[in-house]
Amino acid sequence: MKTLTILGSTGSIGRQTLEVAKHLGLKVIALTAHGNIELLEKQKDEFKPEAVVISSEPGGEAKLTDIAKNSGADIIVTAISGMAGLAPTLAAAETGKRIALANKEPLVCAGEQVMQAAKKHGTEIIPVDSEHSAIFQCLKNKSEVSDSQVSKLILTASGGPFRGKSRNELENITPKQALAHPNWNMGKKISIDSATLMNKGLELIEAMHLFGVSPDKIEVVIHPESIIHSMVEYTDGSTLAQLSIPDMRMPIQYALTYPERKPSLTAPLSLAKLGKLTFEEPDLDTFPCLRLAYQAAKLGQSACNILNKTNEEAVELFLSGKIGFLDIPKMIENALDSDAS
Ligand code: MG
Repeated sequence: MKTLTILGSTGSIGRQTLEVAKHLGLKVIALTAHGNIELLEKQKDEFKPEAVVISSEPGGEAKLTDIAKNSGADIIVTAISGMAGLAPTLAAAETGKRIALANKEPLVCAGEQVMQAAKKHGTEIIPVDSEHSAIFQCLKNKSEVSDSQVSKLILTASGGPFRGKSRNELENITPKQALAHPNWNMGKKISIDSATLMNKGLELIEAMHLFGVSPDKIEVVIHPESIIHSMVEYTDGSTLAQLSIPDMRMPIQYALTYPERKPSLTAPLSLAKLGKLTFEEPDLDTFPCLRLAYQAAKLGQSACNILNKTNEEAVELFLSGKIGFLDIPKMIENALDSDAS
């Protein structure tokens, strides 16, 4: 039986990982949380892990990194949100075990470092993010990318709650409106990132590191139904896609059972019932965050760091009502410009 350590077990991905762990009968060795101590206590009673870390307590950050490296689990699920996940992800990369990677920021801000550490220690990184899981499932092996058999990675994006809106209509958007995502039930930060399309921008940078491709070989297509989770286009004109109903428990389970597949908690897809799937180009004028992410991806690591850091700050300010929705890309653009000059 495989054993798991879940970093960030009380967040959306953490909770769903526990559902999957229960379903698969996996043993949970360690759990960590930052703020929701009440839920962590409940999880502790139910899953009886050997260790529990509260990262917000004094010395908690060091304990978090220690548990990431030394819990002894076969799989470390990194489900912490934001930059707080960087040190524990780097520590997990040194275990030589498997990381089920759900935390975007470590790849966005230190992609080369994380991938190199994993390579050096023989740590397997299996993506949990639905888009990257889809690409991972479509690729037979990574050498298809390095051998130039892959012409493009195509990331699908739902378009978020404001798809089709004009800039004017976005002027007075409230945090509540921005938090209401049409397809996915997610944490606050990632919901706002989906509404601005920054989430796709961060995923573009994540994909670049995970699969070793340059940003100009990654395309984003808006697909409002969120059924196709992403695609790989090959040089012979063939495109492979992975489809399922939008349910994060699917990519979570695949990252835990890979290379096997097992019955999951996700209902199968009925294409006939869906009737049709639609696609459109992203509107980069109304949603400049995606354009800014391409710009940062081409500039390199330092620009990606500025992009991510300024976005985290801007989302925080927007959620607390201090800036407007359209100020989020403005703040990022200013930060990137002042770095370049
Ligand atoms: Mg995603």
